[in-house]
Amino acid sequence: MMNVDCRKVWNQSKDKLPPHQRMMTETLFKAARSYDICWICGDKEQLFSVIVENDDGEAIAGIICLDCLVIQKNKGTIFVENNPIDR
Ligand SMILES: [Zn+2]
Repeated sequence: MMNVDCRKVWNQSKDKLPPHQRMMTETLFKAARSYDICWICGDKEQLFSVIVENDDGEAIAGIICLDCLVIQKNKGTIFVENNPIDR
C-alpha cells in the first residue's frame, strides 16, 4: 500500500495522454471536485497507482480503479507497475 498525490500524478502525466483521454478525465475531476478518482470511470474506491508504456515506449503514470485495471489488462494493456493506493 502507498500514499499517492493524485493531483501531482495528473500534472506529470496529462501532457502525455491522448487529447480525448485528457478531456474525458478533466470532466471527471470537475464532476467529482477531486483528483482522487479513477481517470477512466471516476470511481473513488479501490484505486491503483499504475505505470503504462505508450506506443513510443514512454512510461506514463496514472490512477485507475480495480475494475478498470482488470478491463484494461484484459484488453492487453501492459502495466509496468500497479500498486494499491492507501486511503
Ligand atoms: Zn475506473
